Amino acid sequence: MALGKDYATQECSIARALEIVGERWTLLVVRDALYGVRRYNDFLGHLGIPRAVLAARLQMLTEEGVLEKRRYQESPPRDEYVLTDRGIELWPVVRSLGRWGREHYDKTVLRAFRHTECGTELGPYGECPACASVVPPADILMIPGPGLDPDPVDPVSRALLKPKRLLEPVVTDQV
Ligand SMILES: [Zn+2]
Repeated sequence: MALGKDYATQECSIARALEIVGERWTLLVVRDALYGVRRYNDFLGHLGIPRAVLAARLQMLTEEGVLEKRRYQESPPRDEYVLTDRGIELWPVVRSLGRWGREHYDKTVLRAFRHTECGTELGPYGECPACASVVPPADILMIPGPGLDPDPVDPVSRALLKPKRLLEPVVTDQV
């Protein structure tokens, strides 16, 4: 008997969550959406993901209520993908995974995250040490770090060379 793709014998809620975000690329799509990426071509260029995989992940995340599809242009019809509240709640997961990866595997600092209100760099769990509060993504300023390519080819990477708030739409020069 072939092994199933899901974790049907697992009752753990981690297993349930991994059915949504455990596939390759999925959390990176969520990460980009937290950075403010909304449009298909922007995800495509920034992630370097195969087209079919991106289309499948966007559809699945939309069906699962992590992303919401919004029409931003009628002719030709174009949709963008915006995180729902359920999707925004994945921020601490993305934050913790990034920190864990940097601690143990890759020390390169690509981005720093600060509380917009006071300018303090976030602590390991996404909290502001100065305000002693957990900072919601909309109040987090993302700052380019020393490890970033200063002259990237793709438009999203270029747009992210400037500090910006999480969730605020990325504005690129491509259509
Ligand atoms: Zn603060």
